[in-house]
Amino acid sequence: MLDTSRRWRREGLSIGLVPTMGALHAGHMSLVAKACSDNDRVVVSIFVNPIQFGAGEDLDRYPTNEGRDLDLLSKAGVAAVYMPTAAVMYPPEATTRVRVGGVAEPLEGSLRPGHFEGVATVVAKLLSATQPDRAYFGQKDAQQVAVVKRLALDLDTGVEIRVCPTVREPGGLALSSRNAYLGADEQKAAGCLCRALRWAAEAYQAGEQDLSRLREGILEIIRAEPLARVAYAELVDPDTFETPGSLAVLAVWIGKTRLIDNHDLAQAFPG
Ligand code: AMP
Repeated sequence: MLDTSRRWRREGLSIGLVPTMGALHAGHMSLVAKACSDNDRVVVSIFVNPIQFGAGEDLDRYPTNEGRDLDLLSKAGVAAVYMPTAAVMYPPEATTRVRVGGVAEPLEGSLRPGHFEGVATVVAKLLSATQPDRAYFGQKDAQQVAVVKRLALDLDTGVEIRVCPTVREPGGLALSSRNAYLGADEQKAAGCLCRALRWAAEAYQAGEQDLSRLREGILEIIRAEPLARVAYAELVDPDTFETPGSLAVLAVWIGKTRLIDNHDLAQAFPG
């Protein structure tokens, strides 16, 4: 990949990178479309990064759909799909890991130890391998966005991190590869995440500024759903992930599937 990227750079072509773990859906494709409109060449990486999964998480059953992914990406006009194997990315002698402090520590960072170290390491490697001008990430993974922005600055990458809005189903459920795990009843139950975020945005904009009351309201809506169990629901600053702030972030178990979602309460909830 590096040789191709270097050649493009020598030719004066701009490069956009869209990192993914595959099983592509319209959320991923919105990043791809934006990257294609901003850059001369777009690279999409597909790599289910083993080191960002904890023990007992879903690495072994993470959905894949390589043929369909490649078809979608070729129709979208991407110039290259980078699909390294785990053996190439992490040979036994490779011992370097990238650890971001501060923003990577609370919430996902504390509930999924090692997760952001895995994310930061793979993102740093993908930036090195593809030499992009810009890299595209989804607001759906808000804390990941904050971690990657920190990393891009701290490591002097010179890469611009562009963030694309969360793509949702008509009912409001954020698209996620993990939605494929949900049964029909669970699909319905998963609606409680966006219902809670919508309620909070409306309440905030109607003048409710008491963040603990907003948080309680969010928890109440999710707890009313029998199949749901809250991992966290917080109102944080979108850059530091410290409380308080106007970004509502949620992680909720629906049965055995862990879903995340977020919304800046100062913005109208879409749909
Ligand atoms: P993943 O394959 O889950 O690692 O996601 C790859 C990229 O797509 C990440 O930057 C995600 O934040 C982004 N993404 C995933 N779901 C959505 C969505 N529903 N809307 C927008 N971006 C998304």
